Amino acid sequence: MGFKVRTNRVNMPKRIDRLNELSYNLWWTWHLPARYLFKELDPVLWETVKQNPVLFLHRIEPERLVKAVADPAFLSRYDEVMRTFDAMLHSQEADTWLALNHPELVGKNLAYFSAEFGLHPALPIYSGGLGVLAGDHIKEASDMGIPLTAVSLLYRQGYLQQRIDSTGWQQDVPAILEPDSEPVQQVMNADGSPLYVEVDLHDVANALRLAVWQVKVGRVSLYLLDSDVEGNPDWTRQLASRLYGGDTWHRLRQEIVLGIGGVRLLRKLGIEPTYWHANEGHAALSMIERVREYVVDGMDVEAAMAKVAAHTVFTTHTPVPAGHDIFTEEQIDKYFHSYWPDLKMTREEFYALGQHGDKPGFNFTALSMRLADHRNGVSEKHGEVSREMWYDIFPNATPEDAPIKHITNGVHLRTWIGKHMRQAYARYQPQYWQQQQEKEHVWDTILNIPDNEFWAAHMAAKQSLITAMDERSRARYVGGDFDAWQVLSSGAFQTPKVLTLGFARRFATYKRATLLFRDPDRLQRILTNPEFPVQLVFAGKAHPADDGGKQLIREIYMTARDPKFGGRIAFVEDYEMGIARNLVSGVDVWVNNPRYPLEASGTSGMKAAANGVPNFSILDGWWIEGFQANPRNGWGIEPALDLEGADQDEAEANAMYDVLEHGIVPLYYQRDAEGVPTEWIKVMKEAIRTCAPKFSARRMLIDYVEQLYTAAARGEQ
Ligand SMILES: *Cc1c(COP(=O)(O)O)cnc(C)c1O
Repeated sequence: MGFKVRTNRVNMPKRIDRLNELSYNLWWTWHLPARYLFKELDPVLWETVKQNPVLFLHRIEPERLVKAVADPAFLSRYDEVMRTFDAMLHSQEADTWLALNHPELVGKNLAYFSAEFGLHPALPIYSGGLGVLAGDHIKEASDMGIPLTAVSLLYRQGYLQQRIDSTGWQQDVPAILEPDSEPVQQVMNADGSPLYVEVDLHDVANALRLAVWQVKVGRVSLYLLDSDVEGNPDWTRQLASRLYGGDTWHRLRQEIVLGIGGVRLLRKLGIEPTYWHANEGHAALSMIERVREYVVDGMDVEAAMAKVAAHTVFTTHTPVPAGHDIFTEEQIDKYFHSYWPDLKMTREEFYALGQHGDKPGFNFTALSMRLADHRNGVSEKHGEVSREMWYDIFPNATPEDAPIKHITNGVHLRTWIGKHMRQAYARYQPQYWQQQQEKEHVWDTILNIPDNEFWAAHMAAKQSLITAMDERSRARYVGGDFDAWQVLSSGAFQTPKVLTLGFARRFATYKRATLLFRDPDRLQRILTNPEFPVQLVFAGKAHPADDGGKQLIREIYMTARDPKFGGRIAFVEDYEMGIARNLVSGVDVWVNNPRYPLEASGTSGMKAAANGVPNFSILDGWWIEGFQANPRNGWGIEPALDLEGADQDEAEANAMYDVLEHGIVPLYYQRDAEGVPTEWIKVMKEAIRTCAPKFSARRMLIDYVEQLYTAAARGEQ
């Protein structure tokens, strides 16, 4: 059953020829010396290709490689990186976290399904938090030695790239993904022909053929299914091209490819997962396909469902309705009528699986809740909200005891801590990157970093953010379709000296991006205070179909150029993982003001806190737990639950202005003789100490292993 991958290798001097291999393993993204190895070969080209090493090696001048081979210092760094790379790839059995702590799971494969993965800006197969979380999950699984195979789709048009026009309106430009210049390799049969997986779609005469691409993420493999295959009817070739593009028909077909195609793919590759994890209901059909396999083999359907459920973990990610797939009877009949006989189920029995109370339609979250025995929400509060939303799925359950746990999200620290802080931590905290990052006492060493050194690291990160913003608007201005007003709205007047608040997230209504504009005069006084000024940086995309979200972006963009606000407001175009990394490390305060209790978790605030950027947020999602850890690590605003709608917004906005004026601003500008804000730094250090271990992906994976994975691997019900 052998298969291999087709790599678009570059011919290069033999002595450094493993750069090819390194360029195809995203491990380089979180191992700084590996990143520098590429960069130092040609720093300008490295930025031109947006830090995509595959493209980089294709474009680099051969002379530069020849020169590198003649440079003993480069070669020694190269050898060191390769040694670490090999140790990472081959230490599976030895000293990984899993082997040391849960040897019973060693060698047991986990299949992890997600409709999106955020791994690196060069691979635009994610739209936001859900995808970035999935990416962090598999990176951390690799670090910990958890055997995992991930499945998703190859979106050749990625998610949208955002351009803001001169009227402040978001234009949606597809991010074209060209497989030959990305870190993806096509999976081939042993004889060199492409490997295909087939699924039936009832509007297509023959089975739909799916090509398969592999992405290496450390020790983990991610497989991407691709319907753009010759021989498939034209309209189906676009099927997997846009992430969350199109209508619910389109979405359903994509989920057939992901769930059903994904299971068939693993079978074809000979991968035998012991347990399975569906990240959100988009992957629900993987459970149905596994039930079908058992029934076709002769098992009765009740037993088959029980067996699938016992080995399956399901995570729900949001209480917001748009996050739950509900399909119509017309849609389900069309694509599943021929599936029922295989399942030995009647139409009614099948529909019962997707039923939620007396609500119309077939609900994929309800389906997942029924076919996965190990369920969780993504923060303590969200666990509670999810039990309340879904308890009626379970016979005799109440909102208090419904079998849905919570595991609070976490972030992959090696991806998200910026290089300046990372270097400062490493000087005083030698064990930091070792096996211990989830342990709180390890982080006490943060307190040993001298304040001036700590502040210098933060200011360097802040300068990097401002430089990155300037470079973005310079490139757009030089490109010719950006006028001077747009340069201004993009933050031309931002300076590192001024207290900077960052707000970056999807422009979904419940996130209330413009809450701080509620009282423009008061905001103006705060921003333009001559002695203690404040500046705001915004970023984020609206869903292409969400005109309400686009309207909010326009409001911010146009306000930014109003001289009344002193040039202190900026909107950064095209929020993606690259600029996200600059933002979460380079602003002074991270703002979040969702409408309670709709922020299931939120993860950008965790990234900020791990960089010493304190949160200033409504107490919702993860921040309820984060702020509880020690209220000297940031600022929490109680939601005004006695009020509703506009009144609630107003009360919460006023509470935020008060904290800003009387708490945050004076503390930030209180300096010692050398200009170092020592009291402020206490808050920064507290943010790191209390949040980095607790909201690390390491801690999250440990919780998954201990609360859900071990049980799912054993097949407990
Ligand atoms: C972390 C991240 C998110 C999620 O942030 P929230 O706090 O959950 O809104 C979204 N987009 C990008 C690019 C990110 O890096």
